[in-house]
Amino acid sequence: MNIIAIDGSSATGKGTLGKRLAQAIDFSYLDTGALYRGIAYEIINNGGDIHDEATAVSVAKGLSGAKMMALQNESVIRTEEYGRGASFVAAIPAVRQVLLDFQRRFSENPVMADGTPAKGAILDGRDIGTVVCPEAPVKLFLTARPEIRAERRFKELQLKGLCVIYEDVLSDIQSRDKRDKERTTSPLKPAEDALILDTSDLTADDVYAQVIRYVNERIK
Ligand code: C5P
Repeated sequence: MNIIAIDGSSATGKGTLGKRLAQAIDFSYLDTGALYRGIAYEIINNGGDIHDEATAVSVAKGLSGAKMMALQNESVIRTEEYGRGASFVAAIPAVRQVLLDFQRRFSENPVMADGTPAKGAILDGRDIGTVVCPEAPVKLFLTARPEIRAERRFKELQLKGLCVIYEDVLSDIQSRDKRDKERTTSPLKPAEDALILDTSDLTADDVYAQVIRYVNERIK
């Protein structure tokens, strides 16, 4: 089973690493955070209540596989507002259950963007190594100091032309971490057999170099 699970908080470098790895070893890549963000986006933009469980479950059930794949390339869902909203809907067990089935199917039948079979799957999120793919032969758990993550996210948002305040970004990151770690269903935590990597003082190239060696030892 060729599966790489990448978990960790936001702005630890999961996406950058996942995409680069996928390209290098011909694996397909799924950013599972986009699924939760997509649900938050739908609710907020239809004037719904992000804390209403029935609404969130019905939006999750209404997402087709094609829509879930399309969310991967959707830039409007990448704001802090939808990240925050995602962390509220992600705490609802029935929402997680709906998305779990899709994520498992993706990991079992990975396909490339053009529909051809992939050599394996890379999924990034919060519970991939612990719940979605506990049997994955490679599990990575990325961490980084909150101040460093806030700085990375702050620069990213500024580059997109958004007007943001560093302190707000930091406090958003901290409260989202708290919600993700403290929820009862599938909280953010490393799997027992995960390789934990603190990316605070590493460049994306450093992280990639360490991980590709680790992956090559475990996946032939
Ligand atoms: O990774 P990203 O910042 O896009 O994730 C948004 C939110 O979605 C996270 O803060 C988390 O609450 C939720 N999430 C989750 N499980 C995943 C992926 C994301 O609970 N596998």
